[in-house]
Amino acid sequence: MSNLVYLNGKLVKKEDAKISVFDHGLLYGDGVFEGIRAYNGRVFKLREHLDRLYNSARAITLTIPLKKQEMEIATLETLRANKSKDAYIRLVVTRGVGDLGLDPRKCPKATIFIIVDKITLYPSEFYTKGLELFTVSTRRNMVNSINPCIKSLNYLNNILAKIEATTMGAPEAIMLNKDGYVAECTGDNVFILKHNILITPPTWAGALQGITREAVMDLARTHMKLLVKEDIFTVYDVYTADECFLTGTAAEIIPVVGLDNRKIGNGNPGKITLKLIKEFRELTRSTGVPIY
Ligand code: PMP
Repeated sequence: MSNLVYLNGKLVKKEDAKISVFDHGLLYGDGVFEGIRAYNGRVFKLREHLDRLYNSARAITLTIPLKKQEMEIATLETLRANKSKDAYIRLVVTRGVGDLGLDPRKCPKATIFIIVDKITLYPSEFYTKGLELFTVSTRRNMVNSINPCIKSLNYLNNILAKIEATTMGAPEAIMLNKDGYVAECTGDNVFILKHNILITPPTWAGALQGITREAVMDLARTHMKLLVKEDIFTVYDVYTADECFLTGTAAEIIPVVGLDNRKIGNGNPGKITLKLIKEFRELTRSTGVPIY
């Protein structure tokens, strides 16, 4: 996989897909990106991902030198060039090449690259047995510093939290915001189910507007007739929830059965979670922008 990479308008071999050491994406994490998936020859929620990419770019005053539709075409062409049907797509736009100062005005042109690769999923037992997580001490970025709604290349906040989690032997971390409310995980959104109400933190509390999060809220409302709320909650609410799960493009929906050595519900993946996993699988396999 990933034999051909789209780089600034050209499809080049993986070995030749190189960017300058003066690119501000590399020097300062100045840029935005998306992680997108293709299932069964269709790109899941491609337009929603592109909308988020362009919103992230707008928020950091980064001009993307392609129109949204051209970006869609470039993404589909890269998939076709790699003969991909099921893939993980990494679409990156950096500030581009500049000098060693921070000033983005010195970077005349954004760098764009699209990598098509295979997805590395969590081991399958995580989906059947569920995850046991820990709350970490690294707080999620404040909305008035680097707003977590911006899917930027600056992931050090998440990486520091991930290091804490892996040190404790957990694959993901529950991150709190500066006020101590649950924000999200390092690469996933978080949901709890309590008294048949599905709750996820609002974006203003420090969560990315996850594409999977949106799809799950929609499925829960329309297919499962559940009440869905965006609301702030604490780890106490997670400890005492009936069910908990994470959502993300790579992870899809993954059950959480424990937090900070407290069992969630009966310690097994919840019924509603398992139903949502099934519904989500059907959605990913039956919708999306066709590649061919
Ligand atoms: N939060 C963070 C910090 C993430 O990096 C991701 C992965 N993109 C998510 C949540 C989940 O978002 P999505 O469902 O769009 O992949």
